[in-house]
Amino acid sequence: TPRVFSGIKPSGDLHLGNYLGAIRRFVPLQDTHETIYCVVDMHAITVWQDPEDLKRWTYEIAAAYIAAGVDPTKSIIFNQSQVVEHAELSWIFNCVARMGWMARMTQFKDKAGENSEQVSLGLFAYPSLMAADILLYKATAVPVGEDQRQHLELTRDIAKKFNHDFKKQIKALSGEDEFFPITETLATGPAMRVKSLKDGGKKMSKSESSDLATIFMMDDADAIAKKIKRATSDAEPLPSEAAGLENRPEAENLVGIYAALSNQNVGQVLAEFGGQGWGKFKPALADLAVASLSPIADEMKRLVADRGEMDRILRDGADRARAIAQPIMADVRNIVGFVR
Ligand code: ATP
Ligand code: MG
Repeated sequence: TPRVFSGIKPSGDLHLGNYLGAIRRFVPLQDTHETIYCVVDMHAITVWQDPEDLKRWTYEIAAAYIAAGVDPTKSIIFNQSQVVEHAELSWIFNCVARMGWMARMTQFKDKAGENSEQVSLGLFAYPSLMAADILLYKATAVPVGEDQRQHLELTRDIAKKFNHDFKKQIKALSGEDEFFPITETLATGPAMRVKSLKDGGKKMSKSESSDLATIFMMDDADAIAKKIKRATSDAEPLPSEAAGLENRPEAENLVGIYAALSNQNVGQVLAEFGGQGWGKFKPALADLAVASLSPIADEMKRLVADRGEMDRILRDGADRARAIAQPIMADVRNIVGFVR
């Protein structure tokens, strides 16, 4: 069976974008793939994290996976730092990847802003660690949001360059031409990129958007309703066809969220709401969001309260992850020429 790897950073409270772009898509893959879902704490510290927050968010994300339907006996759920091979492989990839490749990453440019001399070296090398996360398990498919597309391309570039640079050693070790697979982005349904509720040009994000711009998975019903009511929209009624959303990014976002949460396409939603005003649509969207998110939030709260159980799940996941990673890492050391 093909193997899937994906992860979320414990860098803030989980939001609707993380749910629709990532977590929700993890669940059905359990039936068709071997699934590894990680809480990538080593990625989180590429920007400053208060250590207590880092722990709390690590538990929360693992709990969100489970609350959304990821089964810890089927899938491997663990936090990245428990499997040290991630760090080891990423160092090797730092020496395979080129400075120029990293410098082209738009997420780095966005996150570094004007201040690129002052950000951590880890933030610059982030895609190299992400490539290690995926390739440490020779994962062939990665279900991540659309914002990660460029990083996945870089993962493929690193795999190709490693396969090329060490061609002779790979052949000698395995008789094969390639050691690392060329990982694909896994398209499961429409690639949903949830935007900020206050600015249709910006993605919803853990670390960058304001409270009113973001629907958090742990928000209560009142908070969700208030944020949707106050979300930026425009003066026009909803169009009756998808084409009518062009150049209306805020409207497109709200309709897109409704479609995703109700498992419909945008056309179906507009067939129902076309011609109506926001005063009708927003309450319907708020009800749908509350009905979708509040059972998950309740289950998350129950799970994080049981630290012992969460620790046991993460430790067991790390053991199972290591069992896959260690033989692959042993081959990598051999290929590179590290003496054991
Ligand atoms: P940060 O602001 O710290 O980067 P984030 O909200 O972007 O946090 P990540 O941990 O970087 O979250 O990403 C976790 C997963 O969630 C990835 O698969 C990413 O593609 C997805 N994701 C993040 N934001 C969105 C969004 N607005 N819409 C859809 N998917 C998203
Ligand atoms: Mg992000």
